[in-house]
Amino acid sequence: MADWLLQPETLAAHALGGVDEATGAIIPPIHPSTTYERDTDLGYARGRCYSRADNPTYDAAADTLTALEGGSQTLLFASGMAAATAVFQALDPADHVLVPKVMYWALRSWLLGFATRWGLEVEPVETGDLDAVRAALQPGRTKLVWVESPANPLWSVTDIAAMAELAHGIGAKLVVDSTVATPVLTKPLALGADIVMHSATKYLNGHSDVVAGTLTTAADDAFWARIKSVQVQIGGVLGPFEAWLLQRGMRTLFARMRWQCDSAQALAEQLEGHAKVAEVLYPGLPSFPGHAIAKRQMIGGFGGMLSIRVAGGEDDAIAVAARLKVWKRATSLGGVESLVEHRASIEGPGSPVPRDLLRLSVGLEATEDLFADLVEALG
Ligand code: PLP
Repeated sequence: MADWLLQPETLAAHALGGVDEATGAIIPPIHPSTTYERDTDLGYARGRCYSRADNPTYDAAADTLTALEGGSQTLLFASGMAAATAVFQALDPADHVLVPKVMYWALRSWLLGFATRWGLEVEPVETGDLDAVRAALQPGRTKLVWVESPANPLWSVTDIAAMAELAHGIGAKLVVDSTVATPVLTKPLALGADIVMHSATKYLNGHSDVVAGTLTTAADDAFWARIKSVQVQIGGVLGPFEAWLLQRGMRTLFARMRWQCDSAQALAEQLEGHAKVAEVLYPGLPSFPGHAIAKRQMIGGFGGMLSIRVAGGEDDAIAVAARLKVWKRATSLGGVESLVEHRASIEGPGSPVPRDLLRLSVGLEATEDLFADLVEALG
């Protein structure tokens, strides 16, 4: 190990790992074992008992993310949804939570359709409007504020430091879904958040071949202990093979993110003036409403996600997606291949997404090919 503080790029490239002294292996092994030997006195001196709680293969991915987020501990979950819902399941019935009006639709749908039936009071609020957030906070009752930044699929940017101050002012926790920003571009814990969540299915793994979720905490406190017990008892854990793939994916996170940011920025700028594009939504554009906050909060780039509103309306948007050859029509984001999706038809009634919007996840292809494909499809 070097005798200076290593940069995050280096930590990620090595997944914190050294060389295994016994074998010389520079890549960590996969431990498929679900269970571990008990000592003769029935204890577990070696620290592990059963893989619903822990497994050595989880450590490389979890510890790497803890280091990149600047947290104290990370839990790996079977999906981003398993990670997000574990946070809400750690609350008590009748607790009040604030969530963004624009957020990942399946979580919004679970919160409003399921969590409320179990007694949580869920209040959607415009998290970009600090006065609205201040007015919605209920001292003594609001236990958690949830933020997603940039928020899928309009990419609205929320001031995390300001939200942390507001939440902590009444003793509530702030949790940030930082799936789109990744630790390369935003450090929610350094900005005051208590917990940062990722759908690791996206950029962290980066290859569209693992469904996973993560939570990283700033403090190992009582709320975190409740989240851990939700995970261990309900069992939404990642398999060892998926955890191994996740640590492998994170090794190239910085290189991928930087390429994807540069490509998305170039595409957003080129598409902004296009006659068939009514609006480009991308935090890196000076015309974007949240650009000033994004410039302050995001480090070295504005992400690989953008959306376009097609001038001809919904039918034209769907026709444009149908004509694309390089972009693949598929849900999800953050992989090496570029994806396009008509979000309004996926999200259904109640979605705040305009019907003329196409969501674009920029992959690692040549930007020229992605742009040429879009221009041809736009007609
Ligand atoms: N958060 C965001 C921003 C997402 O885009 C997604 C999935 O698309 C999720 C959470 C849910 O993650 P998963 O699909 O891994 O359950």
